[in-house]
Amino acid sequence: RNDHTWSSVEQFFTEKLQPESKNLKYVRKNNQRNGLPEIDVTPPQGKFIAMLAQLKEAKNILEIGTLGGYSTIWLAETLPQDGKLVTLEVDPTHVKTAQKNINTAGLEDKITIIEGSALETLPTLKERGFSDFDFIFIDADKPNNPRYIEWALALAKKGAIIISDNVVRDGEVINKNSTDERVIGVRKFVDILSEDQRADSVALQTVGEKGYDGFVLTIVQ
Ligand code: SAM
Repeated sequence: RNDHTWSSVEQFFTEKLQPESKNLKYVRKNNQRNGLPEIDVTPPQGKFIAMLAQLKEAKNILEIGTLGGYSTIWLAETLPQDGKLVTLEVDPTHVKTAQKNINTAGLEDKITIIEGSALETLPTLKERGFSDFDFIFIDADKPNNPRYIEWALALAKKGAIIISDNVVRDGEVINKNSTDERVIGVRKFVDILSEDQRADSVALQTVGEKGYDGFVLTIVQ
């Protein structure tokens, strides 16, 4: 079994079980047109987090790392009428592209993008009226994952779900001598979760079109 098998199996299931809405297809095209990197979640990952949000009956979602809004739209499509999602993004081109994608999907009333470095915008969320999140998706710069999980635990409601993406990094997560800042960030993040009484977590490894990686699911105690 190899990368080719993983991609073909992913394609098989995507066609059968997790077809993208026309809004999501548009996001991928428009992202490409605007030169955004193809580092969004895959359709099965997008649908999986959206289903978790649906199971949770989430009404108040925080996302760290918007890119073109692909995962944002998967999540927002599950929100009830009065549900809200706020998403944080540092790159102005990504923000502009995401806003266009969100408007095209007709989700502009539910989604707010906040432009800026997440470590600067996270402390402003409460005063902007965003708090008590019941679902949080962490998917930005991995070196800052330790800070993001601290913020997520502080801003989440009891019982909230936190999903943190790209935690396996092709298996590098177990390399304690790694000099890669992203691996170092993820290792520190795992240490925090293993010690913090507010967090109960599980890590799942994944394979697919985007290789070998994984995510951590946390339930806030
Ligand atoms: N969640 C998106 C999706 O699946 O469609 C993908 C997000 S992409 C992996 C990571 C995003 O985080 C990029 O758009 C990048 O510009 C953004 N980012 C990187 N550093 C950031 C920071 N310090 N603050 C906010 N966003 C940041």
